[in-house]
Amino acid sequence: MGFKETGVITPRELEEKGLLPPKERLEKGPVVIIECPEEIPCNICVDACPFNAIIMDKIYEIPRVQWDKCTGCGTCVPQCPGLAIFVVDLSKPDKALLTLPYEFKPEPTKGAEVDLLDREGRVVGKGKIVNARVYDKTWAVTVEIPRDKWLEVRGIWIPRK
Ligand code: SF4
Ligand code: SF4
Repeated sequence: MGFKETGVITPRELEEKGLLPPKERLEKGPVVIIECPEEIPCNICVDACPFNAIIMDKIYEIPRVQWDKCTGCGTCVPQCPGLAIFVVDLSKPDKALLTLPYEFKPEPTKGAEVDLLDREGRVVGKGKIVNARVYDKTWAVTVEIPRDKWLEVRGIWIPRK
């Protein structure tokens, strides 16, 4: 079964659709991963990128990233209405940094320990928030996570105190 049946895209489908950056680019520093495989009439990410790194010839095509142009700035992350954009940084040997969209309460704060969730909402570990900025009520939260979970973690859960 694929994402059309389950509603959850798998790493293998991302790979097959050419939506993952090359390994060498991933290890250079932060870079965007856009998990938007459906041809829908939306191009907000294209306009959101200040570096023209996201391309789409027609509004219903799936967005493609020019990996060499992406700086990993994260500007596009909170602007996607589908919450489908992430930034991964694998430049450190002992950890990964993941920037993801977040729209729940409580609000994210630097230093907070959070549960890490996979694409199906299962808890797969613990992480620490290292940065958080808000854009029109959606947060772009950067979390320090175990390096081997960079392709697995796609959400966070912040426990209430
Ligand atoms: S992370 Fe920044 S440079 Fe990369 S695609 Fe998003 S907005 Fe553009
Ligand atoms: S803004 Fe989000 S939903 Fe719209 S095309 Fe870009 S990635 Fe897909």
